[in-house]
Amino acid sequence: MTFPFEIGGPSFRARQVRSWVFHRFARSFDEMTDLPLGEREQLAQRYPSIRPEPVATWEADGGETRKALFDGSYETVAMRYPDRRTVCVSSQAGCGLGCTFCATGQMGLVRNLTAWEIVSQVLWAARIFAERPTNVVLMGMGEPLANYDHVVGAIRTINDDVGISARKITVSTVGLVPQIERLAAEPFPVTLALSLHAPDDETRSALVPINRRWPVAECVKAVKSFRRAHGRRVTIEYAMIDAVNDAPWQAKRLADLVRGSDIHVNLIPLNPTPGFGVPPSPRVEAFARELRGLGANVTIRDTRGRDIDAACGQLAAEAVARG
Ligand code: SAH
Ligand code: SF4
Repeated sequence: MTFPFEIGGPSFRARQVRSWVFHRFARSFDEMTDLPLGEREQLAQRYPSIRPEPVATWEADGGETRKALFDGSYETVAMRYPDRRTVCVSSQAGCGLGCTFCATGQMGLVRNLTAWEIVSQVLWAARIFAERPTNVVLMGMGEPLANYDHVVGAIRTINDDVGISARKITVSTVGLVPQIERLAAEPFPVTLALSLHAPDDETRSALVPINRRWPVAECVKAVKSFRRAHGRRVTIEYAMIDAVNDAPWQAKRLADLVRGSDIHVNLIPLNPTPGFGVPPSPRVEAFARELRGLGANVTIRDTRGRDIDAACGQLAAEAVARG
């Protein structure tokens, strides 16, 4: 990882600084108390902050869920559970893929985040947890595989320097097939999630425009070969949208797609957006039962942080819209 600052001095100085940044989650050189005072002051003056700081933060669930907005345009959510600490990070400010039910998609692409901006979100959460996160999910704003090089650079640093194993890092993709294949060829075994949202091309193309380029069958084939390449079980994400993708026939089609694989289906009750509603929970449960009856592995995702719009780009999208 190349830092956005230069340290100079003897080589152990760089090691000291890296340890402060990656293991003690320092935000500034001022905190690095074992650096000689003169050097520390000089560095702190030249680089007042060493990683992006949020411009606003929110909390929910009695402080167990926290959200941060960076640069007025991208956000991060830190969630503490009894058995794990998960950080949901953004890979882009906005997103250019225009999924119709997604607030981020409606913003358009503002810009790609740098590897350092992605890593810094993990370090922000680590500081909140006062411990390194156990899981990193690239499910914030943006399409990680549309910002491939920065995302892969960030994954390497999160893995090598922060010390979170690749299998605890989940890349969620809308289904950019060539980049899924590229990711399968990388040496680190990240966990992959495919945002499918519909088992039929007609419904999926209306929700996820890029489906016209890489349709359902190709996406599912790509994640199955990713599974073979890395031996990691993949997940299909399925946002449940009222009267759009929640019919029993769609559960059957979805079960057909995953039959014979160990793909895990994660049903996500939609965080409502203009024109799209969440089905009543008995319908979500019936959909899950139907899938299970047909042999699929299914869970319904908990919806942490709903009261602070901690799901999926909602808040930054509003901030950007407000200008
Ligand atoms: N671009 C990537 C990752 C970011 S979105 C992707 O699409 O996979 C993370 C997840 O949130 C995706 O599964 C996405 O489809 C889902 N999502 C987007 N808007 C949502 C909403 N309003 N309610 C619930 N899930 C949503
Ligand atoms: Fe982009 Fe993912 Fe939202 Fe689609 S769902 S617009 S790919 S962030």
